[in-house]
Amino acid sequence: MRVDIVSIFPEYFAPLELSLIGKARATGTLRLAVHDLRTWTHDVHRTVDDTPYGGGPGMVMRPEPWGEALDALAPAEAPPPRLLVPSPVGVRFTQALAHELAAEPHLLFACGRYEGIDQRVLDHAATRMRVTEVSLGDYVLFGGEVAVLVILEAVTRLLPGVLGNAGSLDEESHAHGLLEAPMYTKPATWRGHEVPEVLRSGDHGRIARWRRDESLLRTAARRPDMIAALPPESLDKRDRAT
Ligand code: SAM
Repeated sequence: MRVDIVSIFPEYFAPLELSLIGKARATGTLRLAVHDLRTWTHDVHRTVDDTPYGGGPGMVMRPEPWGEALDALAPAEAPPPRLLVPSPVGVRFTQALAHELAAEPHLLFACGRYEGIDQRVLDHAATRMRVTEVSLGDYVLFGGEVAVLVILEAVTRLLPGVLGNAGSLDEESHAHGLLEAPMYTKPATWRGHEVPEVLRSGDHGRIARWRRDESLLRTAARRPDMIAALPPESLDKRDRAT
């Protein structure tokens, strides 16, 4: 997968050298480049913002540098990338969207700052590529950089070959509309707290049933909205009893 990120703070992305994302880059699974929006400014102050039309507090990102950046990174003669614009007015980022994005060959992220990017940048881009505004949640951040880090972590771990044990993807929270059961490791007793006996029993059938029950109970207690959204056919008789 190719990923381009445009930001006025390219330094924000230093952590993308680390851990499994760094490894995915080293092996070529992820071809990632970070670009400074100010590369596409032409004045001595390398200006990227100006006052909002209609008045009001704050500054808005000017369209010209963004237009040039998108022209350079998504040239008309190449297959268009999917443009992702982090924004509190966007669609909520979910595991389902992470899966959708993991299937894209080329993602281009535009990181807003100040009061955001001039709307015409998105409107113009939408005439030649798919544009998706994505929100991390119902709160407001300083800028899109942290949102891109979050989205890229979720997407990169879904790329083939990135996780050592791809089976983890099938059993984790949100894989099948449920939260994962509690997990334990050694020692069996720690500060008076025991690992549940069933997990030490070696009985794989019982363990699978216990994990399923705990997953259902935990999801019902913490996220009744997720239980309500489960397709009825995904629950068997025993699940319903739980
Ligand atoms: N004026 C905007 C509004 O009220 O909707 C908020 C702008 S915010 C201060 C600056 C930038 O942070 C946004 O352009 C976006 O890139 C990023 N941002 C803020 N909150 C976000 C969120 N919940 N999800 C994704 N990106 C966010």
